[in-house]
Amino acid sequence: MSTHPRMRRELATIEIMIRRYCSENHQRPQDDHDREQLCPDCSELLAYARKRLQACPFQEGKTTCGKCSIHCYKPQMREKIRKIMRHIGPKMLLTNPRLGILHMIDGLRKKPVQKRTVSAK
Ligand SMILES: [Zn+2]
Repeated sequence: MSTHPRMRRELATIEIMIRRYCSENHQRPQDDHDREQLCPDCSELLAYARKRLQACPFQEGKTTCGKCSIHCYKPQMREKIRKIMRHIGPKMLLTNPRLGILHMIDGLRKKPVQKRTVSAK
């Protein structure tokens, strides 16, 4: 994983959103021990998002994935993450204002600088 703070924050933001969405919308065990556990679907999505971020050709120059010109997510995963962003995105401003606002600012970047060549996977 890139050690650039920008990329660490991007991943942290995605992780918070996926966890929040999963705990609010998916079937959870009542057992407290499992509260931090993602359902298999969401844990697959998080692993996928992490991989895509690692492979991102823009790295710390990137805009947010929702505004990226490449859309490197495969359609099925893209649909899932978009649903989560729609539900949780606006709430992030209330519950995690710092991450929410920084994410919005990142989204204002129009022309990311491409640092690597794109490999489609
Ligand atoms: Zn879930």
